[in-house]
Order: sequence, then structure tokens, then C-alpha cells
Amino acid sequence: MTEQHPSAEGETTQQPFQADVARLLELVVHSIYSDQDIFLRELISNAADACEKRRFEQATGQSQPTAAPFQIIVEINKGARTLTVEDNGVGMTRQDLENGLGVIANSGTRAFLEKLNAATDKSVGDVLIGRFGIGFYSSFIVADHVDVFTRRAGESQGWKWSSDGKSVYSIEPSETCPEAGTRVLLHLKSDVEAYLDPARIERIVADHSAAVPIPVVLREAGSEDRKVGDGAALWTRPRSEISGAQYADLYQTISGQFDEPAMTIHWRAEGRSEFDAVAFVPGSRPLDLFSPDRRGRSRLYVRRVLVSAEADLLPPWLRFVSLVVDSADVPLNVSRELVQKSPVIGAIRKAVVGRVLQELTKLADSDPTKYAEIWKNFGAPLKEGIYEDPDRRDSLFALARFVTSLHPEGDRTLAQYVRDLRPNQTAIYYLTGVDAAALAASPHLEGFRARGVEVLLLSDPVDAFWVSNAVGYDGKPFHSITQGQTDIAQIPLADGQTESERPELDAAAATCIARVKEVLGSRVSDVRASDRLAESAACLVASDRAPDRTLARILASAGRLDATMRPVLELNLGHPLVLALIGLKGAESQETFADVSGLVFDLAQIAEGEAPENAPDVARRLSTWMARALASNDKS
Ligand code: ADP
Ligand code: MG
Repeated sequence: MTEQHPSAEGETTQQPFQADVARLLELVVHSIYSDQDIFLRELISNAADACEKRRFEQATGQSQPTAAPFQIIVEINKGARTLTVEDNGVGMTRQDLENGLGVIANSGTRAFLEKLNAATDKSVGDVLIGRFGIGFYSSFIVADHVDVFTRRAGESQGWKWSSDGKSVYSIEPSETCPEAGTRVLLHLKSDVEAYLDPARIERIVADHSAAVPIPVVLREAGSEDRKVGDGAALWTRPRSEISGAQYADLYQTISGQFDEPAMTIHWRAEGRSEFDAVAFVPGSRPLDLFSPDRRGRSRLYVRRVLVSAEADLLPPWLRFVSLVVDSADVPLNVSRELVQKSPVIGAIRKAVVGRVLQELTKLADSDPTKYAEIWKNFGAPLKEGIYEDPDRRDSLFALARFVTSLHPEGDRTLAQYVRDLRPNQTAIYYLTGVDAAALAASPHLEGFRARGVEVLLLSDPVDAFWVSNAVGYDGKPFHSITQGQTDIAQIPLADGQTESERPELDAAAATCIARVKEVLGSRVSDVRASDRLAESAACLVASDRAPDRTLARILASAGRLDATMRPVLELNLGHPLVLALIGLKGAESQETFADVSGLVFDLAQIAEGEAPENAPDVARRLSTWMARALASNDKS
């Protein structure tokens, strides 16, 4: 490894924050942060993390046990106008200081910054910050200068980190550090006197840090130390003794979100694997829900020793859940890698997933409105589970809610769909796309509407995948209405609908279809008469053996399909335009026929929300036709 800082030990070095940090600091300091108190919560949570890390090192024999119990001391000094938060946790080396306090390392923070940069409106920034933990930097909300004195447990050299939070920080050796641990010293700004009031500090700790598993002590010269947080692990206490606010604190600590949980599940598993667990479903979408490195927030404790703050206890499709598990059965004294492979962990994982799904199912039953909100936020990841986890497919099918052509509210279940099947209907029909509104207006739906056949309108990107993999629901296969032949002719028309006059596929129509196919050449794989259209002249569908067109587009854009599949053009033989096309005969109309056939194809593409291959050319040709139509109108 190369030494990054060639200066001899003992010298003070000054370094700039990462560019992003400077911007973040400015935002924070200018206090669009709605709740200033949050800084104390962040510092206490860092102190608790440090204590838990040291407790783990001691439990596993990596460092010497200490006699002193772990605790966090919040000290008020009115004379000096300072507030300190001190812990006897792991402490930091010089490198830790640089990595921890000089760099924005955590992916959530990065995602946050990206959103923030994209947000031009100040109120949007406000909402974003309100929903996001920004850690140590929140100190600069209340302090114009921050010193951090720290010594890594087991090392002799201590360090002082110092910054005014503007653009640079300094690091120098220090002799006034805790024996092991960290002291964060805040030099308070002049307008935040309130944080020198012990009653205020006590209230903030009670409000925001009740779930911290390390005792918190309030100290002020001239008064006795007072315990303001008991450090009892919340999850080991009986549910009846825990308030909603305390659960919310625990949720916020684990998730890094600032909203309220939409669902809290606290249980003790007995039997083959025994553990205490608390799982939270967030009240809003985490900002990085769809970033590739997003994981569930799971903390694994072994008899209250934090083994991992990023335990792999949740499948990717439950990555929005925040979780604490405390088990006595996991071996402490093995590497974290082995912990992940242990069969006990496998059993816990399974039990947790089962419990979360079970509680969601119960909620869907008892409080559909509340459940609808959860589905709106997390339906997309849950649907990933349908193809990633076949064992859970049935539960997930039961949880899924849909927008359909007949029920646009978005609360339709598959069970309801199947219950209301039309006579002779054997499949569950769906239409995929990116835009829910465009789906509802798609020409492909016309024939289904005439027969009263319900169609699932699927507009999440994940939909194209699960629906093409799922074998079916309740014995009914899923069938894309933009793929292959429809088989709806056997389904009776809905009340009040009459069969549109549809000429038989006579010789003239057959010839016309063959001519269109010849003219379009390689743009289509086939041209045929449609029974799915009522008002539109034409539509595009995928051929029987090709993937659904939305899926094909997604695969092609991900480079997983060589070229976009050539579609089938379906013509509505009852439509005036198609009838006119059939009527065009003779060599002199050859050019007109080719031009109109091409336009019919282009318009079908536009109706799907796709841009035609040569848009300016299409526009020009359409104007010519309109001019001609208007001119002949004039004459008559
Ligand atoms: P986060 O806690 O989300 O990682 P923070 O900005 O709160 O982000 O802290 C950044 C890092 O600085 C922590 O991950 C940790 O490595 C280090 N750190 C902060 N406070 C302490 C502390 N009291 N003791 C030890 N390390 C700390
Ligand atoms: Mg933190």
C-alpha cells in the first residue's frame, strides 16, 4: 500500500473535504434541515455503533476486555459554550478519521446527493433531507467548529480531528484523547443556547435515542451524572412496554430514514431456531430503493452483541425492510463470512421472510387502505420475488394488487380477476408498458373491452419479467394481449355490444393482406386479420413464439437480445381505412397502396408510444394526405 500522506507523524495536515461534502455541508449549515435536534441523535448513534463494535471485538477475543461498562456521556459546559459526546467504543485511527469523517462513503448518502442535485426546488431538498440521515456532518447545524479526539482501542497514539465544516479539516496527534474511544466536542454557535439546557438535552435523548442499546449519561459540572437512556435492547423487552415512538426511533436508527414505519412486527421465534426480531416496513420509499447496491437493513445481534450491521437476512425483493434479529444460536466466535453460511442463519432468514409476508397478508385483510399505501411504495420490489423465489410465489400472488382495464383504482387482486372470468375465458390477460395512462388507451384493448374481458395493465419494469416466467395463477396461464393470436372469439360480447360488421376474409382481403406484407418487407414478420381491434385500423403484436413486445424492448435495451423482434401487423378488416386499402386495385394505385400501408404501420407504432423509424418522413407524408383530403373536400 502506498502512504498517502508523506508528512511525518506529528505534523498537522490539512485536507479538503470531497467536493460533494462541501456542498452537503453548506446545505446543512444553511439549515433547510427542518429538525435541528437530529444532530445529537446522529452523534449518539455513532457512539453506540463504536461501543457495539468494541463489544464485538472483545466478545470474539480480538481485543482486551475492559472493566468499565460501555456508556455514552453527553456533557454540557455552559461557560465554554460546548457540548461533548464521548464514548468508550473502538475509537479511530488516523486512517479511520480520513475515511470516516472526510469522505462520503455510504452509498445511501451518494444516492441522496444525486437526488439533491437533481432537485431544483428548495422544498424538495427540504423533504429529501428530512427523510435522510446525514450522520456526523449534522454537527455543523449547531456548531461552528468541531473537534474530535479519538484513540483506537489497543493503540497508543491518539488523534485530534478539527474543522469549521467549511472546506478543510485538519488532523494532528493529540495527548488529550480518551484512553480508548472518541470525544466529539461541539463549539456551539451563538444562536443555539438551548442545547446548553440539560432538560432540553434529556428530552432530545428521550425523543430520538430511546432505542440506543448503550446507556446514555448526562453530565454537567456541579451536578450529579444522570442516566438519560437506559441502554436496554428494545427488542428483548415485552411489546406492551414499548411505545410507538420508541419503535419509530429504532426504525429510524436502522433504516437511516426519518419517516415513521408503516408496519412494525416484533416477535419472538420459538422452536427450531429461537430469536427476537423486529422488522419494519418504511412509511416511504427509500431513495436508493432501485440502486443496484441497495440491500435490506438488517442488524444481527448475538445475545445483544452486534455481530453485523449489514447481515444478509433478507432477500433482495425485501430490501426495503429494516430488521433487527437477536439470536443466542449463532456462533459468535466465527468469521462474519461463516456466520452468513451457517444453517442457523438460513433458518432465521426463512422464518423472517415468512413472518413478514404473513403480517403483510394480515394487514391487507384488516386494513386495506394502509396496505394499499405499502403496495404502492413496495409492490415493485415484491413482484421481483415472484420470479426470484418460487417458494413464495403463492403468498406474493395473494399480496399483489393491480390496475386493470375494468378497475383503474389499482386494488384488484388475482383472486378477484379469476372469480370474474368471462364465459369461455381460459387465460389471465395482461398488457405491459411503461406508461399506465398509455396502456389504458391502447388499441390492443378494444376487442377485449367489447367482450367485457378484464386485462391487467402492468407498468412496472419488473412486470414484463415475472409475468412471462410465472406458470399461471389458479390454473390460468398469463397471456400477453400483444403477443400471438388472441383466442377471444369464443367469449361472448358484453351487454350492449354488437359485433362490428366484419367482412369475411374473402379473396380481396387476403390479396390485400399479402400485398401489405410484401410492401412492408423486413419491417414485419407477418400481416394478418385481427380480432382484437374494434375502433383502430391496425396494431402491432409479437409473433407467437417471440417474447412480449415490452419484454423484448427491455431485453434489447439491456443488450440481452440481438435485435428487436420483427412484429406482426394486425389489420382491422372492418375499418374504413383498411376497407379502402382493400378496394385499391390496379397498377396505377400501386404507389398509393405502398404509401398508405407504410403509414398504417407507422401509426400502429405511434399508438404503442414508440417513435416511428423516420418521423420527419412520416410527418411529411401525413401532411400530403391531409392536404389532398381537404382539397377534395373543397371541391365537393
Ligand atoms: P455512518 O454512521 O452512516 O457511517 P457518519 O457520518 O455518522 O456515517 O459517520 C461516518 C463514520 O465515521 C462512521 O461510519 C465511523 O466509521 C466513523 N465514526 C463516526 N463517529 C464515530 C465514533 N464515535 N467512534 C468511532 N467511529 C466513528
Ligand atoms: Mg452515523
